[in-house]
Amino acid sequence: MDISIVVPVYNEQDNVEAVYTALSATLKGMDCDYEIVMVDDGSSDGSYSELARLAAGDPALKVIRFRRNFGQTAAMSAGFDYARGDVVIPIDGDLQNDPADIPRLLEKIDEGYDVVSGWRRDRKDTFITRKIPSLLANAIISYLTGVHLHDYGCTLKAYRREVLEGINLYGEMHRFVPALACQFGARVMELPVNHRPRLHGVSKYGISRTLRVILDLMTVKFLMSYSTKPIQLFGRWGVYTILAGVCSGAMTLYMKLFEHLSMNRNPLLIITCFLLFMGVQFIVMGLLGELNARTYFESQGKPIYVVKDRINLG
Ligand code: UDP
Ligand code: MG
Repeated sequence: MDISIVVPVYNEQDNVEAVYTALSATLKGMDCDYEIVMVDDGSSDGSYSELARLAAGDPALKVIRFRRNFGQTAAMSAGFDYARGDVVIPIDGDLQNDPADIPRLLEKIDEGYDVVSGWRRDRKDTFITRKIPSLLANAIISYLTGVHLHDYGCTLKAYRREVLEGINLYGEMHRFVPALACQFGARVMELPVNHRPRLHGVSKYGISRTLRVILDLMTVKFLMSYSTKPIQLFGRWGVYTILAGVCSGAMTLYMKLFEHLSMNRNPLLIITCFLLFMGVQFIVMGLLGELNARTYFESQGKPIYVVKDRINLG
C-alpha cells in the first residue's frame, strides 16, 4: 500500500460523498495503491449510512465507526492505527482542504521529507474568532516547540508512516504531530495549500478551542523538553525558590537585629515561609516526576533515544 488517506468525520452527512468522490478522483489519477480510511466519530446524523453505502461499492474505502464522539484527535489516531500505507495523509471531512493538493505533498515526501505540513495561507474562516487566535497560537507553538510552522491547525498533512509509529495522541494533540515528530529527528517542511469555505454542515469548534490548544501546548512542551528529566525543570525552580526564601529570611533577621523591626510585624517572614515551602514542594514534585518517568519509559520498553541507522548490528 502506497498511500492511506485518513478522514475524521463527525456529522458531515452532506459532505462525505463529495469528499470521497474528490479523493477517489485525485488518487485514481496518480497510479498508486491507495486506501481511504474514514472514521465516523460517533456522528448522530446520517454520516455512517452514507459511508456504509459508499464502502459497499469500493473496497478501497475503509470505514471505522466510534461508539460515541471521542473527538477529532481520537478519530485521526484510529485512522493512523488502521492505515497501512507508506505515506499517511489526514484530510478534513468537510472539503475545506483540497484533495488536489495531495500530489504536491507527496512530491515533497519523495524529496526526502518525513512530514509535509499544509499551510492554509489564504484561510477561508472568520477573522476574529478563527484567524486571529490561530495566528497567535501558531506563533506561540512555533516559539515553544522550536518547529516553525505557520499553520499547525491545518489537518491536511503528509506523514511517512514510521514517523507516526512512535507517537501516541491525547487531548487535542493531532495538531502537534509535526513538533513531536521533529523531536524524533523527522525532517519537517511546510507547503501552502488551498483552503475553501465550508459549504455544508457547521464547524465543530468555537473560540474555546484556543484555551484547549494552549493547555495541550504546555503538555507537549513538557514532554518534548523534560519527559526524561522532570527534576531538571521542577528541581531548578525548587532551588530558585528556596534561595529566594533564604534571602528573604536573612533580610528578616537583618531587619530585626539592626533595624529593630520585630519579625512578627515583618511581612517578609511570611514570604520566607511561603518560598521555602514552595521550594520543597517543587523538588518533591520533580522527584515524583522522575519516578513517573521511569514507570512510563520502562513499563513500555520505550527507549529514550531514536536510532537512524545501524551497521554490523543485524
Ligand atoms: N471532527 C471530528 N470529531 C469532532 C470534531 C470534528 O471527527 O469531534 C472532524 C470534522 O468532521 C471535520 C474535521 O474534524 O472533518 C474538522 O472539523 P471542523 O471542520 O469542524 O473544524 P474547522 O475546519 O472549523 O477548524
Ligand atoms: Mg472545517
